[in-house]
Amino acid sequence: MPFKALGLAPNILRGIQAMGYTDPTPIQLRAIPTVLAGKDLIGSAQTGTGKTAAFALPILQRLGVHSARGVRVLVLEPTRELAAQVETSFRDLGRFTDLRALVVHGGVGYGHQRTELRRGVDVIVATPGRLLDFMGEGLRFDTLEVLVLDEVDRMLDMGFLPDVKRIIHACPTKRQTLFFSATVPPEIAAVAAFALHQPVRVEVGVSRAVVQTVKHAMYPVAQVQKFELLLALLARTDFDSVLIFSRTKHGADRIARRLRTANHSVAVLHANRSQNQRVEALEGFKSGKYEVMVATDIAARGIDVAGISHVINYDVPATPEDYVHRIGRTGRAQAVGDAFTLTTPEEESEVRAIERFIGQSVPRQKLDAFDYAPFTLRPARPDQPGAGGRGRSSRGGGYRGGHGGGRSHGPQHGGHGVGRHQERRQRAPAQPGAPSPGGRPVSAAPALQRGFLSRLIRGG
Ligand code: AMP
Repeated sequence: MPFKALGLAPNILRGIQAMGYTDPTPIQLRAIPTVLAGKDLIGSAQTGTGKTAAFALPILQRLGVHSARGVRVLVLEPTRELAAQVETSFRDLGRFTDLRALVVHGGVGYGHQRTELRRGVDVIVATPGRLLDFMGEGLRFDTLEVLVLDEVDRMLDMGFLPDVKRIIHACPTKRQTLFFSATVPPEIAAVAAFALHQPVRVEVGVSRAVVQTVKHAMYPVAQVQKFELLLALLARTDFDSVLIFSRTKHGADRIARRLRTANHSVAVLHANRSQNQRVEALEGFKSGKYEVMVATDIAARGIDVAGISHVINYDVPATPEDYVHRIGRTGRAQAVGDAFTLTTPEEESEVRAIERFIGQSVPRQKLDAFDYAPFTLRPARPDQPGAGGRGRSSRGGGYRGGHGGGRSHGPQHGGHGVGRHQERRQRAPAQPGAPSPGGRPVSAAPALQRGFLSRLIRGG
């Protein structure tokens, strides 16, 4: 069904066309008519599903033209990056309207935001803290028509729920509320219950599902060899751009430093960096100036960069939800991507928690020709997903040298480094069990996994 059939106005359709979208995504198909009808909505959708346009498009249409009466739409976001990104979407999609959108977040001066608020805006996209500052200065929402609470689960994680509740209380009770959360634990259900009025539920896919266009793998390794393995993976992988996750800011800095020493062009994104540094990092990564970006979970929340070919989890993420979000940074908008996770024996139980959460086992891989130090690994319990390659894998456990004949990013076993700035080697998609360029078999994961794991378990 084309966008036109959803009842969108010509100036909005022109905005869509300018963005290069041809067909609505599933969440857009379901959410746009609901929002246009003025109904409250509670939605869960995977990252990268087109959720932003699903609410921005019908909101822009409902607003019509700029009004000097006051703010009519407020969108709350958990992070600055996400807020900036969503405001950009409003501007891009609404480029053939005269509507005004403003992003309000901390980390930058108050001057510009204050001036724009005085000048009058239709849409504010904000993080809670800075918005409350302006509310303290007299910003009011008497004229508000639509409130969007986005990524509410992340707001809960970040301790923003009390702020969010204060902001909701400052909004008129007669309004439309759109509520997005990947998971709905009791605290969030309570907020939804008081913020929403007879909401329509829109669930696209299962919120626990990993983006289907992403292939993922675990790389067991001893802690002391993690960085070495990261370098080897980068050297043997045909990547466009790589996002590396670290659990901590300090860890992110350290990984970036060591990668630079190894001649990679690297950007870093975490909360201790100034807003200017964060923008520079993101822009540099988008433009290709940096082929690698190292980020923490929170900072990376809003990263929407087309063409991230690989996500590498240097640490196993703190929560299974973070795994899904991290993986969702690649494979966006139906593009393919790969996600590697470096796992130490100590992290095995967290890996199993992830597998239980996403309902599938993730193949364990070993990089050929990498000199693994012996380390011991607790045997996987046979009744759990991922144990010895048995589990409910929906992807099969084989080595993925190719994506069904499409673009392939898997590490080139036995090959040499080919990054974005180097000449690419042509290679045929590897088949499980087929000889690798280095003459060793490219792993058929379950067999390799069993062999590898049993060797590890034996300490060999
Ligand atoms: P989101 O889930 O809102 O973060 O969007 C993920 C990516 O999908 C963004 O880069 C959007 O620009 C892109 N996108 C959104 N809607 C569509 C569509 N209908 N067709 C193609 N790409 C889209």
